[in-house]
Amino acid sequence: MTFDQLGLSSALLRAIEKKGYSEPSPIQAKAIPAVLSGKDVMAAAQTGTGKTAAFTLPILQRLNASAPIKPHRIRALILTPTRELAAQVAQSVSNYGLHMPLKSAVVFGGVKINPQIAQLRRGVDILIATPGRLLDLHGQGELDFGELEILVLDEADRMLDMGFIHDIRQILKLLPAERQNLLFSATFAAEIRELTKKFLQDPIEVEVASRNATADKVEQWVYPVDKKRKGALLRELVEEKCWTQVLVFSRTKHGANRLAQQLVKAGIEATAIHGNKSQGARTRALEDFKSGSLRVLVATDIAARGLDIAQLPQVVNFDLPNVAQDYVHRIGRTGRAGASGKAYSLVSADEIKQLNDIEQLIQRHLPREYIDGFEPEHEVPASAPLRKPRQPGRRPPKHSGGGSNAGKHTAKGRAGEGHKRPRRRRPRAGSGNRA
Ligand code: AMP
Repeated sequence: MTFDQLGLSSALLRAIEKKGYSEPSPIQAKAIPAVLSGKDVMAAAQTGTGKTAAFTLPILQRLNASAPIKPHRIRALILTPTRELAAQVAQSVSNYGLHMPLKSAVVFGGVKINPQIAQLRRGVDILIATPGRLLDLHGQGELDFGELEILVLDEADRMLDMGFIHDIRQILKLLPAERQNLLFSATFAAEIRELTKKFLQDPIEVEVASRNATADKVEQWVYPVDKKRKGALLRELVEEKCWTQVLVFSRTKHGANRLAQQLVKAGIEATAIHGNKSQGARTRALEDFKSGSLRVLVATDIAARGLDIAQLPQVVNFDLPNVAQDYVHRIGRTGRAGASGKAYSLVSADEIKQLNDIEQLIQRHLPREYIDGFEPEHEVPASAPLRKPRQPGRRPPKHSGGGSNAGKHTAKGRAGEGHKRPRRRRPRAGSGNRA
């Protein structure tokens, strides 16, 4: 399958070529024709699957194919849950739309509103926005959706998690009833289906792989360690493994700040990003991290969501998320678009519930490894046996003993047991999981 075969115009094909993509990703192969058909589409796709291009390319094509009555009125609105994601989607729109006369703009909170107003007044065909700032701008009379043709809800599941449902309802009321609706979400959980019933009409459903497809591509380990020694273990790992670019997840903003400070004290370039940081600070941190001048980026789940950092070699879970699905999002930051990645979780005894939840979700026991000098005083209890997934319609567990990396990291083929023994690590008798 080629982009050409998907029926994309030569202007788009040239832009795609410039990006260096040789073929459409699975979500693109399915979603692009669906969006081009003009029908409503609901697509299950996680970040890292190429989902942004899956809606951006056909939107550009559709808008460019028909000349509007009035030029540069908002004809497509793309809503995203976070500022970072909005900025990244906007970047994709301008990359792919390079050879088209369409104008795009991005608006989000945390930065001055006046330059956004000025840009809107100059005229925009495609607007990318976070819900709050969009409503502010509308309240100030700066938005006219009379010409709107296409609405996209990107990462709809996260929008609901972040409590945007009320804002979304408000926004829907501002739009013309006749329009094409596209909904992209990592999952089709019950509440997403509920939302789709309200605003999609007879949608084409596109699902490329299970929600855990990303997880299958990433090699994952659990390092049992006492809570108070996690900081020291992380520093040891960064130095010993010579990591030059590692994304570290922290459950809390405060924890993220503290950890970044500790790393800096130890001479490791690090910074934290989370919702309390100004937009400028977040953008700067991301740029420094991408350029390689920042070795460690410590992020909370919300701040990290949707970060487009190509081919991140590894991520570390400094603590496990309370919501198991966030683990899948976190490790989805690595192993992107076909590249393989590594995810390390520093797990203390009090996190066994979170670990169990994650293992149930991904239907795999994660192999445990012990780092010399960091063996915990408080042992992490054995994992619970895997149960069948609760939600009907999900892919059944492939095996009880782990995914693509299980064979590589477990000596006896039983998850969590008989760990591989790399230098400086030793297995612990009785520490393995019961499969
Ligand atoms: P996304 O899921 O939209 O966040 O995209 C994930 C990453 O995959 C981004 O860095 C894209 O630039 C990249 N990407 C998107 N489409 C393709 C493709 N067809 N081939 C290779 N990489 C792609």
